[in-house]
Amino acid sequence: YSENEKTEDYLFKIVLIGDSAVGKSNLLARFARDGFYTNSKSTIGVEFQTQKIEINGKEIKAQIWDTAGQERFRAVTSAYYRGAVGALLIYDISRRQTFESIGRWLNELRSYLDMNVVTILVGNKSDLKDAREVTTAVGKALAAAQGLFFIETSALDSSNVSAAFQTVVREIYNILS
Ligand code: GDP
Ligand code: MG
Repeated sequence: YSENEKTEDYLFKIVLIGDSAVGKSNLLARFARDGFYTNSKSTIGVEFQTQKIEINGKEIKAQIWDTAGQERFRAVTSAYYRGAVGALLIYDISRRQTFESIGRWLNELRSYLDMNVVTILVGNKSDLKDAREVTTAVGKALAAAQGLFFIETSALDSSNVSAAFQTVVREIYNILS
């Protein structure tokens, strides 16, 4: 078979969801381009970015979708979710309100997608230690109760950013292979 068919074997659509300003765009920027933006407006308009990930010697393309700010208007559309096989459900560990929204995001995700969509709960901004409002234990407990993977990340200092995306991609790959 052709080179083309080989690379198209593994293309996983992954969506980023969570309240406004939790760090979705910066997690994607950090992962895909190793960048960080202090001005959140800088990435508005971006639809998705594709990143190659190697799992068990296989090259996988992760097509990662960013909301481009539409979550501010509670208007994340069905087109955004369509065909996704993975999701990063993100909150900000320094803003309890964003953690309390997780249930609503999970309902929305599950209304558009199969229960089997591989989902990781991500507590972002772990660098903001002094401002923490959601403990690691509370985050882990929610993830366990909902059958989600769990990780805390910082798009600012890069910690666990690759691991968050890789966990989702690896699990999707394991399910499909
Ligand atoms: P989005 O609305 O979910 O896409 O959030 P953004 O990526 O635009 O980030 C919102 C704000 O949080 C921006 O001012 C970012 O610089 C900041 N931010 C994002 N991730 C982190 C992080 O890991 N740590 C800290 N301290 N700030 C972050
Ligand atoms: Mg954004």
